[in-house]
Amino acid sequence: MDFWRDVKTKAATVAAAADLTVRKLEIQRKIGVQRAAQDRVFTSIGRVVVAQVKDGQPQPDGTKPLFAELDRIEDEVDSLQEELASLEGAGAQKGMDLCPHCGTVVSADQRYCSGCGNRIGQ
Ligand SMILES: [Zn+2]
Repeated sequence: MDFWRDVKTKAATVAAAADLTVRKLEIQRKIGVQRAAQDRVFTSIGRVVVAQVKDGQPQPDGTKPLFAELDRIEDEVDSLQEELASLEGAGAQKGMDLCPHCGTVVSADQRYCSGCGNRIGQ
């Protein structure tokens, strides 16, 4: 019965290929986990180096653009924090607040949000 022997051989081949695919996916997943762990270690090393440079140690060769990018990001965060503080200050002056449910600007004495209708404050 060549036909049935052929079917059995093909079924075994398909099963082996599926098993191989599962094992490859599992190995790729494990590589991804290790790469993520590696990135966390790189980040930790970077924090140590940045702290050392801030303490007056020389910048390691080739890191000048990275330190410049870090400065740019810190400036941007400072600027955004100032903007946020000024909005909070303006809101406090005018008795404005943000709905904690949807973020709509509401006056501090409103009991229900005009955006989402939820009760706000006491
Ligand atoms: Zn709301």
